[in-house]
Amino acid sequence: MGKREPVIATLGSHSALQILKGAKDENFPTLVIAPEDKKDFYKRFRFIDEIISIPNYLDFPKIEKLLFKKNVILIPHGSFVAYLGLEENKKMRIPYFGNREVLDYESDRQKQREWLIKSDINVPLQFRGVADINYPVIVKSYGAAGGKGYFYAKNKRDFQKKIGALKDRNFIIQEYVIGVTLYIHYFYSLLTNKLEILSMDRRYETNVDSLGRIPLTHQEQLNIEPSYVVVGNSPLVLRESLLPEAFAMGERVVEKSKQLIGGKGLYGPFCLETVITPDQKFYVIEISCRIVAGTNLFMDGSPYSSLIYNEPMSTGRRIAREIKLALKENKLEQVLN
Ligand code: ATP
Repeated sequence: MGKREPVIATLGSHSALQILKGAKDENFPTLVIAPEDKKDFYKRFRFIDEIISIPNYLDFPKIEKLLFKKNVILIPHGSFVAYLGLEENKKMRIPYFGNREVLDYESDRQKQREWLIKSDINVPLQFRGVADINYPVIVKSYGAAGGKGYFYAKNKRDFQKKIGALKDRNFIIQEYVIGVTLYIHYFYSLLTNKLEILSMDRRYETNVDSLGRIPLTHQEQLNIEPSYVVVGNSPLVLRESLLPEAFAMGERVVEKSKQLIGGKGLYGPFCLETVITPDQKFYVIEISCRIVAGTNLFMDGSPYSSLIYNEPMSTGRRIAREIKLALKENKLEQVLN
């Protein structure tokens, strides 16, 4: 990376607005790479200095040279792997905020599960086959995004009735945890060696979150199946008595990543997707090792970020703050990959 001031850039989708607004708040030049038909949309925002349009998201790697010339630091988000694929992402050499090696763990459900278990985190039981099912379960096909294609089965018979087309695909059968979903947004700094909780959200999923609006007697007649497609996110604050464990879980996951995953382990933004049961236990259903879309609720900070910062601090801005701090301390190499 040259001596020139770096440009903070990302792909136009997911949490790009938050990332670039945060970068501008920290006085960085900003750049978005977006498909042609989204150019006008991104033009609306004054905090975006430059737009590079590409025919399709998949064309992104083709402009790598240009991005090098512009002294770009790339901030990944949820659309990177979704649009470009895992291998393409790992191949790119543009300075990137985060550890690319974490992607192997994030994208492999089995590896992810081992990491969580080794971090002393509760995870739902997993069943090898239909014969083992002795609880209500949720069945998840591989590569499903946003909860699409998941289904609930109350027992073996129900499972066999519903598995149908999914039979030929890879799927996992997991204990269905009944509780409140809570997604915790963390930021771990390699520079300060501290873990911060910046915000929290819960997802609103249709129709599982709206079934309670129909009385049980009517539900029985309608024969509705719950589905888990995300339509939005809403804020939630956690009982204070549960906060120490929320911090501790994040710290354990970071600590374990240093042994399990190559390089610097997990750093920057990540999210534990939890379900909290009536006995006040967190079950983690997934870890996302990057900024998650639920942080978009908190462009101006959250109750949790205000406990740490006396200014509005989104996850996007926190990323830019880390880069700024690294530049000041001459440690940019340490936070980039
Ligand atoms: P991906 O990130 O791989 O695209 P996803 O984030 O869409 O997957 P999950 O977070 O695994 O999918 O699950 C989607 C939703 O399904 C959750 O928000 C939750 O409502 C429900 N769910 C998932 N696993 C469980 C579980 N074990 N028990 C109860 N509900 C679950």
